Amino acid sequence: MNYRRLGKSGLKVSELSFGSWITFANQIENGVSERLMDMAYDAGVNFFDNAEVYAAGKSEELMGEILSKKNWSRDSYIVSSKAFFGAGGKLPTQRGLHRKHLVEACHDALKRLRVGYLDLYYCHRPDKETPVEETVWTMHQLIMQGKILYWGTSEWSGVEIMEAHMIAQKHNLIGPTMEQPQYNMLTRRKVEVEYAQIYKTVGLGTTIWSPLASGYLTGKYIGRKPDDSRLLREELNWLAEKTLVAENERKVISLLKLATDLGTTMPKLGVAWCLKNPNVSTVILGASKPEQLEETLKATEALELLTDEVMIAIEEILQNKPQLPPY
Ligand code: NDP
Repeated sequence: MNYRRLGKSGLKVSELSFGSWITFANQIENGVSERLMDMAYDAGVNFFDNAEVYAAGKSEELMGEILSKKNWSRDSYIVSSKAFFGAGGKLPTQRGLHRKHLVEACHDALKRLRVGYLDLYYCHRPDKETPVEETVWTMHQLIMQGKILYWGTSEWSGVEIMEAHMIAQKHNLIGPTMEQPQYNMLTRRKVEVEYAQIYKTVGLGTTIWSPLASGYLTGKYIGRKPDDSRLLREELNWLAEKTLVAENERKVISLLKLATDLGTTMPKLGVAWCLKNPNVSTVILGASKPEQLEETLKATEALELLTDEVMIAIEEILQNKPQLPPY
């Protein structure tokens, strides 16, 4: 396993990490979740990603149970939570990025995950109804209280991230260290263009999600309907509608052929392609079965196949390279 700095911070995160969205306490048996965490940890993964909203808090409870059972030394792993959507409650006090919810969600995540502090704590989405200043102060104070070590954002715009940094600089507070955006062969603009300047100025780290577009980039949906797979789950109809479209299918068919010609597999190629971007600090893997994780944990092997020539061939298939403004 290789380790990369989380932005300009000194924290080294494994370039492959592991998350629990949809799977833990929902799609898969608890024993499988435990097996997956074992596999990840044994392979050198040091970051486990979670959020209050995953299975309405139950994903964090399960991860906490597994972590406490394993007795892994607390200094050997990084664990996260994210606040915004709430853990099931729909009242205005139970969600958002105001001080009350951020503090309460942090306390609840600590209890569920059974840890004394969160290594990473994210604002899961921007909150248009809370001043960014209130959020920045709260996150800074949680760091000062030792309840979290680093804070970050998820799916914030570049402007919103920079606003948080400007406020932090003005008041000598700690700004956001990392952003958690979607990044994969089909979704690229934020990571490749929108944040381009922020990597250079404040040194933003990125912990990227859905590297395989929820499994679509494995190629398993081509000509088939794999029943036990994520995009056929009723709760995710909205995601399937966006993903299972002719344009994506055309790309994946060509990518599958390329992967075969290179002597690798689509899951490995898809993850390696994300790793190839030096502004990616870690690729968060998801898996519903041990054999899936076994495969993606070996994605680094495919990195050497991604020569300039192959990257150009991939661009020709994707036809979606986001462009920086020409000035
Ligand atoms: P992926 O895009 O890699 O999707 C993972 C899913 O793809 C698996 O659960 C499995 O689903 C399928 N899959 C993975 N590997 C293989 C394989 N080798 N062969 C066949 N199928 C495979 O990542 P996720 O969408 O799960 O995102 C990773 C993590 O990122 C999440 O767990 C979460 O921690 C984080 N995240 C954060 C978000 C945010 O807003 N900040 C949003 C979403 C995720 P199946 O078997 O069901 O087909």
